[in-house]
Amino acid sequence: MLKIEDLNVYYGAIHAVKGISLSIPRGSIVTLIGANGAGKSSTIRAVAGLVRNVKGKIVYTPPEGEPVNLVGKAPEEMVKLGIAMSPEGRRILPHLTVEENLQLGAFIRNDRDGVERDRDHVYELFPRLKERSWQKGGTLSGGEQQMLAVGRALMSQPHLVMLDEPSLGLAPLLVKEVFDIIGEINALGKTVLLVEQNAFAALKIASYAYILEVGSIVLEGRGEDLLKDSRVKEAYLGG
Ligand code: ATP
Repeated sequence: MLKIEDLNVYYGAIHAVKGISLSIPRGSIVTLIGANGAGKSSTIRAVAGLVRNVKGKIVYTPPEGEPVNLVGKAPEEMVKLGIAMSPEGRRILPHLTVEENLQLGAFIRNDRDGVERDRDHVYELFPRLKERSWQKGGTLSGGEQQMLAVGRALMSQPHLVMLDEPSLGLAPLLVKEVFDIIGEINALGKTVLLVEQNAFAALKIASYAYILEVGSIVLEGRGEDLLKDSRVKEAYLGG
């Protein structure tokens, strides 16, 4: 579904992503793990069209359609193609209600009934959001804002959902909840590209994983194999 070839991302003189290649098969959960600053966010932000200076190829094949190179396309075009991202740091709109934030996720759609159905489905996935539908986004707890960011990403009916550290800063019980929901999203037929620092949970859920260090892929493999890998255990799973 998505093939990234020799991707480079630059911020001025900073070479944040250094020629990585990865492949995300339709229906899979693929994870990128690595320490702070490894280039994980830059990689998915490049796919979402949110960074300017990108070199290489990002080829996306929609379920019914021809492959398209996403490099140079605007973020709205990505949404139309069926790609959605839940950004790191809960970038929801603090002055809008939960309901309004969700509606924003559906900005490209004009099928009102379908939007309502999907909104109800997000509320089923996250009952906590339903209870707080009239609350301003900025007054939600960190975990709830994270859920709202994921819910909002689902509102554009994406085929590919990219999640940037959805478990960041969450209490262990909520981490489990968020990972269960990632499994459910995938079971709905959506392909998931997951960026995580919680390597254990990410490797457990992912069919395939890439480990990034300072902009390069240093290791890749099936999630379950990497969980047993001594180098991964040493560096990412606390020995
Ligand atoms: P984190 O988990 O901390 O978000 P990451 O693996 O997602 O880390 P990136 O956020 O992609 O890493 O950052 C990769 C490198 O690019 C870092 O050195 C970072 O400081 C730099 N970088 C990221 N965004 C910008 C920016 N807008 N301007 C300048 N440098 C940036």
